[in-house]
Formats: sequence, structure tokens, C-alpha cells
Amino acid sequence: MQLLSQTTPYPDETIESYLLRLSQDNGYLGFADMADIFWDWLVTQDHELEGAFPNELQSVDVYKASQSSNFRVRALRLVAQLAGVEASELLNLCWLRSNTQFGAITAVSRGGLLVPRQLLRKSSVPVCTECLKQEAYIPYLWHLRAYKACHKHSQQLTRICEQCDAEVDYRVSEAFLECECGTAIKPGPKASQADLKLASALTSNANAKLVRLMAWFSQWKSISYDDDEFSELFVSYFSNWPSGFEGELSNTAELAKVKQLRPFNHTPFNDVFGSLLKDSKLGCAGSQGYNTVQLAIITFLTKLVEQNPKKKHPNLGDLLLSMLDVAVILGTSTEQVFRLYEEGFLATAQPPKKNAFLKPSDNVFYPRQVIELHQSFAPNIPNNQQQFVPPW
Ligand SMILES: [Zn+2]
Ligand SMILES: [Zn+2]
Repeated sequence: MQLLSQTTPYPDETIESYLLRLSQDNGYLGFADMADIFWDWLVTQDHELEGAFPNELQSVDVYKASQSSNFRVRALRLVAQLAGVEASELLNLCWLRSNTQFGAITAVSRGGLLVPRQLLRKSSVPVCTECLKQEAYIPYLWHLRAYKACHKHSQQLTRICEQCDAEVDYRVSEAFLECECGTAIKPGPKASQADLKLASALTSNANAKLVRLMAWFSQWKSISYDDDEFSELFVSYFSNWPSGFEGELSNTAELAKVKQLRPFNHTPFNDVFGSLLKDSKLGCAGSQGYNTVQLAIITFLTKLVEQNPKKKHPNLGDLLLSMLDVAVILGTSTEQVFRLYEEGFLATAQPPKKNAFLKPSDNVFYPRQVIELHQSFAPNIPNNQQQFVPPW
């Protein structure tokens, strides 16, 4: 079996867009119609593929197949055969799941670009009407929640149908320039400078770093990518980097002195600075070494320790860090931190209780000592995790 009309995928097209065009080029009434035919044919080829190809466009992408993503890949290979294209051409259009994470957030990857899964739009996909008039397909950038304006036409992507107020989604309407209600999608207004800046940066070589910083910013500032202000706030925050961030941390430290309830040598670092260290890991996914946020944190902590030397009265240099926190500051693993402790490079606030293991979340280390240890080692060779003690 072979489809009569062959459709060539665009390199930056989404798999949903391609399959929709394929069904239209071949005269099917809709995607579901073509999917039914595929379903029957796939099972005759390979009985394990029963159900491996969904008949809803929204569920087609490989990362959505969770447990059965290997069957989805196998099914797409056979679909490529039917469509007369290379299997790799189709798989390159898909978002794949990844073992790498943004902190605790799972990641998906396409063409080497790793993004947190929540950066992908779920219920709608806004469009640039000008792009669609030139070439009728959906580029993957429109699936990213932070891509809000077309960088080619400087207009806002159209998100809402003027007629019925529904969110635009070609996967539901099965038409690129029409809402589900049948109304033609209108061009969006002129884009804001901040939206355009982020949109262009998402197409640049620095897009991976940008995605990591956006993931961190969204979490740290508790602001959704969908928020109308997101681009504006992000751009202004990083145009004042790192002094704005350092000022924010200094204010937090000053406030802690005012609000202090317990002596600082009995106060966990996280009680004062919240999830600062944990969140900073969001800026690391898929990259090695310290990220921009972590470098600023280390600079801040170094100053904090300098300004708060060891004295009789405990100060902010005596807050308590866990092994997990220390691992972030030293740019290493918790296993390495444990070795540093075992070998006497790091002391704990109290000696561990008899027969009790030190847990990664126990708050027992002093920032002063950790920063001094950090300073006592030569700067890291780029792109390597810092190793203080040989692992053997
Ligand atoms: Zn456009
Ligand atoms: Zn509508």
C-alpha cells in the first residue's frame, strides 16, 4: 500500500501539521479517516502495533505516547513508508522524551533543542496568518508557550477566534487558517518589543540557554509563560542582570536579620532563601558546569560570607546547608559532598547521632566553610562536573 499523493515535510514543521497536510493532499475527509486506514494496515504488518497510532491529531506526537513510545516510533516508520518519505524525516518532526530534567521537570527534545515539557502548548496553538498565507504549515516554534509573536512579520500570533472566543487550535479545527467554528482567523496586532525579542532569541543559536533561563525565571518568579507580562518582565529582569538579582538576595538577607527567630546557626539556609539553590538547577538541563544563575548565587554567597566573618555571635555565614545544597554550590554530586565530609574537608554542625546516616536533606553544613572550600580549589575545567575527591 502506498498513498497516492506524496507530501514533503518542512524541516521545522510539526508532526501534527505534516499528517494533517498528508490527509488533505490524499483527499481524506479528515485526519481520523486517514488514521483509521493506517490503523488497519499497521496491524496487518505488525500485530504489536494495535493502538500504536492514535486517531486524534493532538495525541500523535511521540512524547505523548509515554509507555508505548517505541511502538509509536515503529508505527511512524511504517507511515513514512506509506507516505514515501524517509523515516528519519518524520521522526525529526517529533518531540521526543528525554532523561534529562529541568530540576524536577521532565524535558522533551527536538533537533537537539531540549525544553521543559510544560513549555509546550497544550490546549491551543496560535498562528501567524502572514506565514500561513506564504506557506501552509505549522512550524514547531508556534507550539512553544514563550513564542508569542512572529519574528518574521512582527505581529502577535492570533490566539483567540474573534467570532466564538475559542482558542485557536489547528489540531481541532483541522484547518490552518480557520477556527473550529468555521470563521477565518484574523491577523494579530503589532507585536510588543519584548515578545519579539524573545521570539527572535528562540530562533537563535542561544535558544537552549534562553529556554533554561526562562524555565528558571518562571519558577523563581512564579510567573506562567502564558502571562501577558512574561516577556516584558523576563527581558527587563535580565537587562539588569546580575545586579537586580543580587539586590533581591541582599534584601532577603537583611529581612532575615530583622525577622530572625532562632540563632542563625540553628536556621536552615532554605528558611531564609527559600528554594534558591534547588531552583537554580532549572538553569542546568543538558548543560554542564555552573549556569548563569548559579554563578550569580556563588558571587552573592562569597560576599555574604566575607561580610559575615566567623564571630562569637552566629551570623548569616552560619546558616545550615544540606548535602543537596552544598552539591549545587560546589557544582558536584551529593556523593562527592559525602566524600568531602568523610575525608574531613567539610565538618557538620553537630556530630551525627550514633548509627544514624547523614541524609542528603539534613541541614548540617555551614556556608562559610563551603564557600571557603569552593575558593580553595582552582577553577573548574570548563564543561566538567567538579570533582574534589577521586571517586574511588
Ligand atoms: Zn509570520
Ligand atoms: Zn471560532
